[in-house]
Amino acid sequence: MKTDPEAHLHGAPHCDRCGRCLSVCPVYNVSLVETDSPRGRTDLTTAAASGELTPGPRFFETVDRCLLCRSCAVACPKGVDTAANVIAARAQVHRPQGLAATLGNAAMDALIPHRSFMSACVRAAGAFSRLLPADTAGRRHFPEYLPQVFSGRGVPAITGRPMQKRLPTRVLRSPGTPNRGTAVFFTGCFHGLVDSNPGLAAVKLLCDNGFDVLIPPDQQCCGAPALFSGRIKGFEAVLRKNLHALGRAEGPILTACPTCASVLRGHYPEHASAMHGPEPGQTRSIAPRVQEVLTFLAGLTSLSLPGSTPVRSAAVHEPCHFVHAGGERAAVAHILRKRGVELSLHGDTACCGGGGVSSLKNPDLARQLGSNAAGVIAASGAEVAAAACPGCVLQIGSHLGRTGSAMPALHPLEILCPIR
Ligand code: SF4
Ligand code: SF4
Repeated sequence: MKTDPEAHLHGAPHCDRCGRCLSVCPVYNVSLVETDSPRGRTDLTTAAASGELTPGPRFFETVDRCLLCRSCAVACPKGVDTAANVIAARAQVHRPQGLAATLGNAAMDALIPHRSFMSACVRAAGAFSRLLPADTAGRRHFPEYLPQVFSGRGVPAITGRPMQKRLPTRVLRSPGTPNRGTAVFFTGCFHGLVDSNPGLAAVKLLCDNGFDVLIPPDQQCCGAPALFSGRIKGFEAVLRKNLHALGRAEGPILTACPTCASVLRGHYPEHASAMHGPEPGQTRSIAPRVQEVLTFLAGLTSLSLPGSTPVRSAAVHEPCHFVHAGGERAAVAHILRKRGVELSLHGDTACCGGGGVSSLKNPDLARQLGSNAAGVIAASGAEVAAAACPGCVLQIGSHLGRTGSAMPALHPLEILCPIR
C-alpha cells in the first residue's frame, strides 16, 4: 500500500476523532461497533498503510462491511473520505483468496470489459429466473438453499432485449419540440441489459424536451463493480474504452444510474490522472459533463411532461450515490410533484443496504438495512416506492416482497413516463 498520507489517505491524517461521521454511517448505526464506524475504518486503513498494523481477517471484514455510501465524507468537517481509503485498502492490501473469491474475481474480470458476453449471461440468467417462484407483486426471489448469500435477495426482472437493441444509436427529438441540441446517454449495465424501462423513459423524456439523444454503441460498464472490489486493472480497462466511446460526442452525458454518474464524474478523473496516455485530458473533457438525468431534467427551464401516469402517490427513497455524488436532493420530488404525484414520504429512509459487492459479502447486514428501509416505506401507505437507483429499486422491492407487501418499487422515470 502507498504511504504518502497527504496524497493517498484522502484526508485521514486530519481526522480529529470528532465523531460527526458516526451517526450518518448506516453500518455503525446497526452494529454500534467502533471498527464499523468511518472513524474506526479510517484508523485501521491508516495503520495498515503506515505498516503499524498487519492486516488480518478482522481488518478485511471491516473494509468489506463499508457500503461506500459516502455519507461520512459529506458529514466530515476535515475532508476525510473513508470510502476512498476503503477502496484503496481493497486494492492495495494483499489478502489470501479462497476459492469463492477467486471464482468471483475471475467472473468479474471476464464480464465487465466485455459487454456482449455480459449481455449473453444476462439473457441466460433471465431464462433461469423464470423458473423461480414469484410473490404476489410478481417479484421473484432466490431460493433458500444458499441462504447466506441469497436469502432476502430479489431477482431482477429482465425486461427483454438490451436497451441498445431497442433504440437506434441516435434518437431524434420529438416533432414540434424546440431544438436543444444533443444529449449523450450512458445506459449503465442494469438499465442497458437487465431492465431497460427507466432508460427508455429517460430517452423519451429527453426527446420530448427537444434533445436528440446519442447512445454511443461502444460504451461499456462504468467499472464500478471492479473499482469497488479493488480490481483497479479491470476498472482502468473499461475507463479507457468509455473515454473513447464518450469523448468523441458533444453535449451533456446523462445516465439514470447514480452510481455510474458518481464513477464517471468522481473516480474517472482521479484514476486517469495516474494513467499514461491521453486519458487525463479526455477525462477532463467528459467528467464535468456527466449528470444524473433526473437532476438534469429537473433543472430545465420549461420542462415538458407529455402523457400521464397512473401513479397517484409515491414513497421516495433517496439513494446514497444520488445524494452524495452530485444528484440534487430536491430534483426527484420536484419532478414527481410536477407530474401530479403526491409524496407520502421523501428521504426519511436510511441506506437500504443494497451496496453491490459489500451486500454480497455481508448478506446479514444487507438484509437488516433492506428490511428497515422497506418497513418505513411500507408504513407510508404510498401506492409505490420510488428510488432513482437500480440497486435500491431491487433491494427495496425484494424486502417489500418478503414482508408480503404488494407495493411495487420503481425508478421515478418509470412513474414519470410509463413504458408499455
Ligand atoms: S467526522 Fe471526520 S474528523 Fe470527525 S471523526 Fe469522522 S472522519 Fe474523523
Ligand atoms: S462510506 Fe458509508 S458505510 Fe462506509 S464508513 Fe462511510 S458512512 Fe459508513
